[in-house]
Parts: sequence; C-alpha cells; structure tokens
Amino acid sequence: MDDRLKSELAAWLEFYRDLGLGEFYRREPEARIEMRKSKIENRGQSATEAFTTSGKRAAVLPIAIPEPRVASPEPRVPVITPPPAALSLFEAPPAPRRERETLDEIQQDLGDCQRCKLAPTRNKIVFGQGDPHAALVFIGEGPGADEDEQGLPFVGRAGKLLNRMIQSIDMKREEVYICNIVKCRPPANRTPEKDEVEACSPFLFRQIQAIQPKLICCLGAPAMKTLLGIKEGITRVRGQIFDFASTKVLVAYHPAYILRNPREEKTLREDFEKIREFLKARP
Ligand code: SF4
Repeated sequence: MDDRLKSELAAWLEFYRDLGLGEFYRREPEARIEMRKSKIENRGQSATEAFTTSGKRAAVLPIAIPEPRVASPEPRVPVITPPPAALSLFEAPPAPRRERETLDEIQQDLGDCQRCKLAPTRNKIVFGQGDPHAALVFIGEGPGADEDEQGLPFVGRAGKLLNRMIQSIDMKREEVYICNIVKCRPPANRTPEKDEVEACSPFLFRQIQAIQPKLICCLGAPAMKTLLGIKEGITRVRGQIFDFASTKVLVAYHPAYILRNPREEKTLREDFEKIREFLKARP
C-alpha cells in the first residue's frame, strides 16, 4: 500500500473511531462470507455467534480507496459508510447516529498540536477559515510568515491574489473555505516534508469530511500530491478535474507561483472559470 493510501486509510479509521466504532472488518465478497458461514455451521456453531465473539461494536469498512482519475460525467462514488446488509450479517449493533463531526470539534481535537517537528517553530496554528458548509474549498501548501503571524490562511500577497481570483468568479472569500495541507509554517517557507504531511493531513481529511464541498481546488503541487497522489508535474495536470472520495478536485497553480510568473495569471484565470462553470452546473 502506498503512502497516500496509508494516510487516507488512517484518516478514515480515525473518523470511524471518533464515531465510537472500535473494530473494523474488511468486507469480503459474498461467496467467501457464505463459505465461512457454512464452515462455522458445519462445526455446529451459529454464524452470528462466531462473528460477534468479542462483544464489541463492529463495522465493515471498505478497504479499497479509489485511485484518483479524471472525473467522468457520472463518476463512481466510493462507499464510505458500512452497508446496512453487511452490518446485519455481522450482527453488530448499529452505530450511534450522530451529526457529522464539526470543524470546531476537529479544531479542539487538534488542540495545541505537537504532532510533528513544525510545532516548535510556529507562532500560530493556521487551522483554516471560511464557510463551514462551503461548496468550494481551497487547499494550499502551508502557512507563510503573514499567516503564521495572524493564524489565518492566505492573508499575504498570495492571499490577496487568491481573493481577486475568487471575486473574478463572482464569489466572496467568506463563501469558500481555505486551508493548507500542514497547519504550521515550515521554516523559511520550505515545502512540507513527508512526515509533516503524514502527521497533519488526517486533520485536513476530517475537515473535508465535515464540510463536504462540491469541489476542492488544490493550489500547487504539494496539495495535488497529498490529495491525489499524482506524481506528474502540475503543468500537465492543472485545469483537470479528478474524483476524490465523494467530491471532485481541480488542480491549479499556487498564487505564489503566479506572483513569481505573472504571465501565468491568464492560466489561473482560466482554471477559475472552470470552477465557476463546475459550480454553476451543480447549484
Ligand atoms: S503541522 Fe499539523 S501536525 Fe504538525 S504540529 Fe502543526 S498542526 Fe500539528
């Protein structure tokens, strides 16, 4: 299993653990389940007894996490909740119904995070900002100096450009949600390292799960790699829309890159027009 799958799986496991589900079983094909049931019954034991010996709550968690792929008109949406039929087969009591996790709960859980080596050098954790029910989420790389100072994402020069781009598609910054793949500033604004992304991205995935946006816009290659695991250069991928869990992801250049390469602003504008068209088609 590659690192991206591992970190996505870890995020889902953590999500289910927060719901109070303590054990996870891989969903088996019907034929194998039937075979196991008949073997157990041949031993004179009832199948349900055999599957619930621990007495704990159990859930069926689909292990397969979809490979990123260019979105088709009617995309296959991966199932992330246990199917009721499978639950009844394992005789597990239903999971307690509760509202989905809120951003406040996730932020509380993050707390004064010391989970990676970025903690000692940060001023403020930059959790994220915007509408908790936004249809559109922007994900950048990590906080810079201004963000670290204020505890808010995209507030420096790159942030001003992002604001202009958001306005260019007739939206307001308050209507979207903005965050980064790591929540603490990497020293000298370097790219976040693998262990830092691994420590921080489960919180990002939980934020996405809480917001359930229609579209995520990855700003820059690090966000693209974290969400989609794509190793190709961003130049070849930008402007395309991919499936990610139950939502879609559009890849665009990071505004900081545009500030260094102003001729590419036209490209960023084109990608924002795609965002506008996508959201317009899904009111
Ligand atoms: S970058 Fe994320 S994981 Fe690392 S210390 Fe900051 S909040 Fe915690």
